[in-house]
Amino acid sequence: MKELREAIEKWGRAAGTNVVKVDMFLNHRLETELLFQMGKVLADYFREDHPTQVLTVESSGIALALTTAHFLGDIPVVFAKKSPTIVQSEDVVQAPVYSFTHKVNNMIRVDKHYLPIHSRVLIVDDFLADGQAATGLISLCTQLQCQAVGVGVGIEKGFQPGGKLLRERGIKLKSLAIVEKIEDGKIILAQDD
Ligand code: 5GP
Repeated sequence: MKELREAIEKWGRAAGTNVVKVDMFLNHRLETELLFQMGKVLADYFREDHPTQVLTVESSGIALALTTAHFLGDIPVVFAKKSPTIVQSEDVVQAPVYSFTHKVNNMIRVDKHYLPIHSRVLIVDDFLADGQAATGLISLCTQLQCQAVGVGVGIEKGFQPGGKLLRERGIKLKSLAIVEKIEDGKIILAQDD
Protein backbone atom coordinates (compact mmCIF):
# COMPACT_ATOMS: atom_id res chain seq x y z
CA MET A 1 0.00 0.00 0.00
CA LYS A 2 1.60 3.19 -1.28
CA GLU A 3 0.71 5.51 1.62
CA LEU A 4 2.00 3.04 4.23
CA ARG A 5 5.21 2.44 2.30
CA GLU A 6 5.78 6.20 2.18
CA ALA A 7 5.17 6.52 5.93
CA ILE A 8 7.62 3.69 6.66
CA GLU A 9 10.20 5.31 4.39
CA LYS A 10 9.68 8.72 6.03
CA TRP A 11 9.28 7.78 9.68
CA GLY A 12 10.18 4.12 10.18
CA ARG A 13 13.36 3.34 12.07
CA ALA A 14 15.23 0.08 12.44
CA ALA A 15 16.19 -1.05 15.92
CA GLY A 16 18.90 -3.67 15.62
CA THR A 17 18.42 -6.19 12.86
CA ASN A 18 14.83 -7.24 13.45
CA VAL A 19 12.68 -4.54 15.03
CA VAL A 20 10.85 -1.89 13.02
CA LYS A 21 9.98 1.23 15.01
CA VAL A 22 6.90 3.02 13.82
CA ASP A 23 6.11 5.06 16.94
CA MET A 24 5.82 8.24 14.90
CA PHE A 25 2.70 7.14 13.01
CA LEU A 26 1.38 3.77 14.20
CA ASN A 27 2.39 2.88 17.75
CA HIS A 28 2.62 5.98 19.88
CA ARG A 29 1.71 8.98 17.79
CA LEU A 30 -1.10 8.03 15.40
CA GLU A 31 -1.41 9.43 11.85
CA THR A 32 -5.17 9.57 11.66
CA GLU A 33 -5.67 9.83 7.91
CA LEU A 34 -3.20 7.02 7.20
CA LEU A 35 -4.92 4.74 9.73
CA PHE A 36 -8.26 5.34 8.02
CA GLN A 37 -6.72 4.64 4.61
CA MET A 38 -5.23 1.41 5.96
CA GLY A 39 -8.51 0.41 7.55
CA LYS A 40 -10.33 0.96 4.25
CA VAL A 41 -7.94 -1.29 2.32
CA LEU A 42 -8.33 -4.09 4.89
CA ALA A 43 -12.10 -3.67 4.99
CA ASP A 44 -12.35 -3.80 1.17
CA TYR A 45 -10.23 -6.95 1.13
CA PHE A 46 -12.26 -8.83 3.73
CA ARG A 47 -15.75 -7.46 3.02
CA GLU A 48 -16.70 -10.57 1.01
CA ASP A 49 -16.02 -12.68 4.13
CA HIS A 50 -18.76 -10.87 6.03
CA PRO A 51 -17.00 -10.35 9.37
CA THR A 52 -19.28 -9.60 12.29
CA GLN A 53 -16.51 -8.50 14.68
CA VAL A 54 -12.90 -7.37 14.47
CA LEU A 55 -10.60 -8.92 17.06
CA THR A 56 -7.20 -7.53 18.06
CA VAL A 57 -4.91 -7.48 21.06
CA GLU A 58 -4.19 -4.48 23.24
CA SER A 59 -2.85 -1.99 22.72
CA SER A 60 -1.11 -1.27 19.44
CA GLY A 61 -3.62 -3.16 17.28
CA ILE A 62 -6.62 -1.19 18.45
CA ALA A 63 -6.34 1.86 16.19
CA LEU A 64 -6.14 -0.16 12.96
CA ALA A 65 -8.84 -2.55 14.18
CA LEU A 66 -11.13 0.41 14.80
CA THR A 67 -10.71 2.00 11.37
CA THR A 68 -11.10 -1.39 9.66
CA ALA A 69 -14.30 -2.08 11.60
CA HIS A 70 -15.58 1.36 10.68
CA PHE A 71 -15.31 0.60 6.95
CA LEU A 72 -16.90 -2.81 7.47
CA GLY A 73 -20.10 -1.04 8.48
CA ASP A 74 -19.19 0.01 12.02
CA ILE A 75 -19.05 -3.52 13.35
CA PRO A 76 -17.73 -3.92 16.93
CA VAL A 77 -14.06 -4.23 17.83
CA VAL A 78 -13.05 -6.60 20.62
CA PHE A 79 -9.54 -6.41 22.00
CA ALA A 80 -7.96 -9.23 23.93
CA LYS A 81 -6.39 -8.10 27.19
CA LYS A 82 -2.89 -8.93 28.30
CA SER A 83 -2.90 -7.99 31.96
CA PRO A 84 -3.00 -10.96 34.31
CA THR A 85 -6.40 -11.91 35.62
CA ILE A 86 -6.83 -11.67 39.38
CA VAL A 87 -9.66 -14.14 39.48
CA GLN A 88 -10.18 -16.93 37.00
CA SER A 89 -13.60 -16.49 35.55
CA GLU A 90 -15.72 -18.95 33.63
CA ASP A 91 -16.68 -16.04 31.42
CA VAL A 92 -13.18 -15.76 30.00
CA VAL A 93 -11.13 -17.76 27.47
CA GLN A 94 -7.35 -17.47 27.32
CA ALA A 95 -4.42 -18.33 25.08
CA PRO A 96 -0.65 -18.03 25.61
CA VAL A 97 1.26 -15.55 23.46
CA TYR A 98 5.00 -14.94 23.53
CA SER A 99 5.63 -11.24 23.05
CA PHE A 100 8.28 -10.58 20.42
CA THR A 101 8.84 -6.99 21.54
CA HIS A 102 8.82 -7.55 25.32
CA LYS A 103 10.28 -11.08 25.41
CA VAL A 104 7.71 -12.32 27.89
CA ASN A 105 4.88 -14.82 27.86
CA ASN A 106 1.46 -13.25 28.20
CA MET A 107 -1.89 -14.88 28.53
CA ILE A 108 -4.30 -13.01 26.31
CA ARG A 109 -7.93 -13.25 27.26
CA VAL A 110 -11.33 -12.19 26.15
CA ASP A 111 -14.77 -12.26 27.71
CA LYS A 112 -16.96 -14.89 26.05
CA HIS A 113 -19.92 -12.57 25.82
CA TYR A 114 -18.21 -10.29 23.31
CA LEU A 115 -17.68 -13.05 20.75
CA PRO A 116 -20.89 -15.06 20.62
CA ILE A 117 -20.83 -18.54 19.12
CA HIS A 118 -20.63 -18.58 15.27
CA SER A 119 -19.32 -15.01 15.09
CA ARG A 120 -17.30 -14.34 11.94
CA VAL A 121 -14.14 -12.77 13.25
CA LEU A 122 -11.57 -10.73 11.35
CA ILE A 123 -8.26 -10.56 13.22
CA VAL A 124 -6.32 -7.31 12.84
CA ASP A 125 -2.95 -6.27 14.26
CA ASP A 126 -0.29 -3.65 13.60
CA PHE A 127 2.52 -6.17 12.96
CA LEU A 128 2.93 -9.78 11.98
CA ALA A 129 6.31 -11.22 13.02
CA ASP A 130 6.44 -14.79 14.38
CA GLY A 131 2.67 -15.12 14.23
CA GLN A 132 2.28 -15.60 17.97
CA ALA A 133 -0.35 -12.92 18.49
CA ALA A 134 -2.39 -14.02 15.45
CA THR A 135 -2.17 -17.69 16.52
CA GLY A 136 -3.32 -16.80 20.05
CA LEU A 137 -6.23 -14.76 18.69
CA ILE A 138 -7.24 -17.62 16.36
CA SER A 139 -7.14 -19.95 19.38
CA LEU A 140 -9.56 -17.66 21.26
CA CYS A 141 -11.93 -17.85 18.26
CA THR A 142 -11.69 -21.63 18.10
CA GLN A 143 -12.37 -21.99 21.83
CA LEU A 144 -15.48 -19.83 21.42
CA GLN A 145 -16.67 -21.73 18.31
CA CYS A 146 -16.26 -18.62 16.21
CA GLN A 147 -14.83 -18.58 12.71
CA ALA A 148 -11.64 -16.61 12.12
CA VAL A 149 -12.33 -15.41 8.57
CA GLY A 150 -8.88 -13.92 8.09
CA VAL A 151 -5.96 -11.92 9.40
CA GLY A 152 -5.20 -8.36 8.32
CA VAL A 153 -2.02 -6.60 9.41
CA GLY A 154 -0.34 -3.30 8.81
CA ILE A 155 3.24 -4.51 8.51
CA GLU A 156 4.41 -8.06 7.95
CA LYS A 157 8.06 -8.76 8.66
CA GLY A 158 8.78 -11.16 5.84
CA PHE A 159 12.01 -12.37 7.42
CA GLN A 160 10.10 -13.88 10.33
CA PRO A 161 7.92 -16.96 9.93
CA GLY A 162 4.45 -15.66 10.89
CA GLY A 163 3.20 -14.98 7.36
CA LYS A 164 4.36 -18.34 6.01
CA LEU A 165 2.84 -20.11 9.00
CA LEU A 166 -0.58 -18.55 8.52
CA ARG A 167 -0.58 -19.03 4.73
CA GLU A 168 0.38 -22.70 5.16
CA ARG A 169 -2.56 -23.12 7.52
CA GLY A 170 -4.80 -21.81 4.74
CA ILE A 171 -5.66 -18.64 6.61
CA LYS A 172 -6.60 -15.69 4.42
CA LEU A 173 -3.98 -13.03 5.11
CA LYS A 174 -3.57 -9.45 3.95
CA SER A 175 -0.45 -7.45 4.82
CA LEU A 176 -0.45 -3.80 3.80
CA ALA A 177 3.35 -3.66 3.64
CA ILE A 178 6.04 -6.31 3.87
CA VAL A 179 9.50 -5.63 5.28
CA GLU A 180 11.89 -7.87 3.42
CA LYS A 181 14.88 -7.22 5.65
CA ILE A 182 16.78 -4.72 7.73
CA GLU A 183 20.19 -4.07 6.28
CA ASP A 184 22.82 -1.64 7.56
CA GLY A 185 20.14 0.02 9.68
CA LYS A 186 17.86 0.46 6.65
CA ILE A 187 14.35 -0.94 6.32
CA ILE A 188 14.02 -2.70 2.97
CA LEU A 189 10.43 -3.13 1.79
CA ALA A 190 9.20 -5.82 -0.58
CA GLN A 191 7.51 -4.66 -3.78
CA ASP A 192 3.72 -4.42 -3.57
CA ASP A 193 1.88 -7.20 -5.36
P1 5GP B 1 4.14 -11.84 16.51
O1 5GP B 1 3.17 -12.23 17.57
O2 5GP B 1 3.61 -12.04 15.12
O3 5GP B 1 5.49 -12.44 16.74
O4 5GP B 1 4.39 -10.29 16.68
C1 5GP B 1 3.33 -9.39 16.50
C2 5GP B 1 3.16 -8.53 17.70
O5 5GP B 1 4.40 -8.10 18.23
C3 5GP B 1 2.39 -7.30 17.34
O6 5GP B 1 1.26 -7.23 18.19
C4 5GP B 1 3.34 -6.14 17.52
O7 5GP B 1 2.78 -5.22 18.43
C5 5GP B 1 4.61 -6.72 18.05
N1 5GP B 1 5.74 -6.58 17.10
C6 5GP B 1 6.39 -7.58 16.46
N2 5GP B 1 7.41 -7.12 15.75
C7 5GP B 1 7.42 -5.78 15.90
C8 5GP B 1 8.27 -4.74 15.38
O8 5GP B 1 9.23 -4.93 14.64
N3 5GP B 1 7.94 -3.47 15.77
C9 5GP B 1 6.89 -3.19 16.59
N4 5GP B 1 6.66 -1.91 16.89
N5 5GP B 1 6.09 -4.16 17.10
C10 5GP B 1 6.33 -5.44 16.76
